[in-house]
Amino acid sequence: MSPPRPALRPLDEALAELLGFASALPELESVATFDADGRVLAQDLVSALHVPPQDNSSMDGYALCCADLASASGVLPVSQRIAAGSAAAPLVRGSAARIFTGAPIPAGADAVVMQEDCELLDGAVRIKAPPLPGQWIRRAGEDVTLGATVLASGARLTPAALGLAASIGMADLLVRRRPRVALFSTGDELVMPGAVAAVDMKPGAIYNSNRFFLRALLLRLGCEVTDMGIVPDRLDATLLALREAADQHDLILTSGGVSVGEEDHIKPAVQALGQLALWQIAIKPGKPFAYGRVQGTHFIGLPGNPVSSYVTFLLLVRPFLLKLQGVTELATPSIAATAHFDWPRADRRREFLRARRNDAGGLDLFANQSSGVLTSAVWGDGLVDNPPGQTVQYGDSVRFIPFAEVL
Ligand code: AMP
Ligand code: MG
Repeated sequence: MSPPRPALRPLDEALAELLGFASALPELESVATFDADGRVLAQDLVSALHVPPQDNSSMDGYALCCADLASASGVLPVSQRIAAGSAAAPLVRGSAARIFTGAPIPAGADAVVMQEDCELLDGAVRIKAPPLPGQWIRRAGEDVTLGATVLASGARLTPAALGLAASIGMADLLVRRRPRVALFSTGDELVMPGAVAAVDMKPGAIYNSNRFFLRALLLRLGCEVTDMGIVPDRLDATLLALREAADQHDLILTSGGVSVGEEDHIKPAVQALGQLALWQIAIKPGKPFAYGRVQGTHFIGLPGNPVSSYVTFLLLVRPFLLKLQGVTELATPSIAATAHFDWPRADRRREFLRARRNDAGGLDLFANQSSGVLTSAVWGDGLVDNPPGQTVQYGDSVRFIPFAEVL
């Protein structure tokens, strides 16, 4: 009798353990704010000024003091002209100042009347709609106050965050260094696009697709990638590739060969050169997942089936790489959504089903959920996170992970 199979690890447990092995890379570097999109901030950004620096007009129009209008039958002489970027003299009481969007509010003025609500007379202006105090004035510091922390260390920089950093005068930013990742695919059946034409493919051969999306995903996550290509299904070749990859890299990422077939050499090779700490997770697709160390370097082995590889990357490798870069928010974002499909067969494993939002506010499911069908991940715009043992009926609320939030 064969020994009982060890229970597969639940995803949350495996992820917590995996993240426990990762710590932020110690090296920091200064980069131009222009070039910092996607990088991870390694300093708190504290503002040395108010943004905007002074009260300014949010309209083209006339700045005035509301109290002056009560006694002036709605007509005020125009006493100065203030354009954006110029300095304003104090308002002459009983007058209005011509003002443009972004120009500083003159001392003594407490409102702006937009030009559409004014009639220009000779050297004077008639106010057709009496303003309320504060109208069309953007207050100094209403975006950022002096001394405020606008972005904290561990924030991943978005285009909007770069703008915010620039708005407080930051030309350079301190960020975490990029993780260096060595990537290779295993499989004697794999052929590179361009190496062999489709009509000349030998029986059993397939094109290497994982290499393309894994490399792209790594680059999007801010990594430097050493692409080591395809490694044959032999123990000696696997050992050689792992040894080479362990040098000068923070992470070795592989796809395929991580099951227990005779042609799967990843597990024994990692055990020979280091140790395996995680092995197989109770998710579908994506059961064959491995974490370990090879000569001190992090090692992650992803399944060969393309969708399994893709899904395990998003759920496990993504937060791991974010943690290496010092990111504080590591949780995979998900939202509540309504199933516009039935999923009558529950699985013992937690499932990640490829689905797409429809224009009726629900989720449609891709018809073929096989782990080899990469079309599902292109057709879909996210994953339904379906708990173990759960069936789904049309109209049920489900958790949905939009790809856009994790790419
Ligand atoms: P493995 O995990 O090596 O047993 O592979 C599982 C399945 O995924 C097999 O059908 C492989 O042919 C396929 N596969 C493995 N690696 C790749 C790859 N890089 N690109 C496309 N398919 C792959
Ligand atoms: Mg294989």
